[in-house]
Amino acid sequence: MAKDKEKSLGATLEEQLTFKKKNFFEESDDKKIKKAFDYAVGYMKYLDESKTEREAVKTSIAYAESKGFTEYHLGDKISVGDKKYYNNRGKSLVLFKIGKDDIGANGIRILASHIDSPRLDVKQVPLYEDCGMAFLKTHYYGGIKKYQWTAIPLALHGPVVLSSGEVVDVCIGEDDNDPVFYINDLLPHLAREQVSKPLATAIDGETLNIVVGGLPFNDKDVKDKIKLSVLSKLNEKYGMTESDFLSAELSLVPAFKSRDVGIDRALIGSYGHDDRVCSYPALTAICEDDGDKLTSMVVLADKEEIGSEGNSGMQCGVYEDIINEIAMAFGKSSALVRRNSKCLSADVTACYDPNFAFAYERRNSSMLSCGTAICKFTGSGGKGGSNDASAEFMGFVRKMLDDNGIIWQTAELGKVDAGGGGTVAKFIAKLNIDVIDIGVPVISMHAPYELISKADLYSTYEAFVAFIK
Ligand code: MN
Ligand code: MN
Repeated sequence: MAKDKEKSLGATLEEQLTFKKKNFFEESDDKKIKKAFDYAVGYMKYLDESKTEREAVKTSIAYAESKGFTEYHLGDKISVGDKKYYNNRGKSLVLFKIGKDDIGANGIRILASHIDSPRLDVKQVPLYEDCGMAFLKTHYYGGIKKYQWTAIPLALHGPVVLSSGEVVDVCIGEDDNDPVFYINDLLPHLAREQVSKPLATAIDGETLNIVVGGLPFNDKDVKDKIKLSVLSKLNEKYGMTESDFLSAELSLVPAFKSRDVGIDRALIGSYGHDDRVCSYPALTAICEDDGDKLTSMVVLADKEEIGSEGNSGMQCGVYEDIINEIAMAFGKSSALVRRNSKCLSADVTACYDPNFAFAYERRNSSMLSCGTAICKFTGSGGKGGSNDASAEFMGFVRKMLDDNGIIWQTAELGKVDAGGGGTVAKFIAKLNIDVIDIGVPVISMHAPYELISKADLYSTYEAFVAFIK
């Protein structure tokens, strides 16, 4: 009926002049939706194999090598056509692909994401026993809601440097036949006082103690029998003694695997979407790119969740060093290359959640399945701690997305004074590079099991492909 009738002036103007978010699934045909669903399969495998930054580096290298990338060491020769990766201490990774175009004039197209996620780190002197249980003391890493980490299955991951200098990799709790670990919570029957406390204080950081054993060592002369039995198991399996915890980086992460969520399988539940849901699209985009003109780079950084500190975080000089080396290889000024480079800071954003509508400003929040979300600024209060991207750069990105038919939206973290957060963008901006935040909207961010839409994952991948091609 409406087809035959000519559109009214108002309807035409409305279409031309107003801005509306679009739902990826509504805008896409079955073929495109299938592509998004198929892409999610590889992503979910990546998630399950990459629960720590070290594991993400390993799986990313294996993937990159399968696509023809080879290892780069600082000081190596760099030539047109190179596809290289730089492994920074096994904790962060830089991939780059050298194109034919003049990098002085065109700069480098950079996608920067992070591969660390909130978790519980094991303390340096962690092991003790009390009342029939052996425990490990932990110190949480990143912004967590502590109560969410009790009473769920946890897995132990990470390297231990033995007194001999030998490094052993611990991974317990991921195989279906493995035991898992656990944090106790108080039964509701006795929690009258606990449940009346604010969420932030109901579970104290020092109560996040991991149950690791319950079987006493069979010897009357031993004082801490369960502790000794745990140590003897660790010694049997990994050659560890108690002092080796001093030189270890053991972490507890949720033992869950990623799963489709919803009867229509539109969504994915997993630990660590933040920020592997942007790292995987960046990795696959550069590895599958067959263009030979632009020089592109992907940074998979560590330590974003604690402020991008340390020599594996985005504030480390190595990322600039690599840009300098690429510039030098072609006799260009690094300052010029950086000035002409463009970067997408690929990180997740807070998805509008109708269950917690009070925290969001609906008009400026990202909506689930409405595509990759651009965040012009992050920060808190009066944009404190934000890289506030320029209108010009926002204009460039917007046109690039529209020209490539990509479904996208804009996002602000939440209500102006509700809180805040930051990303790696401001550290890239310090290098005099144009940068803006873009990425996948996440529900229940930083929870042990986060939620995203396959639509937004795929749209983010499409955006990254378009950016570096
Ligand atoms: Mn993040
Ligand atoms: Mn985060």
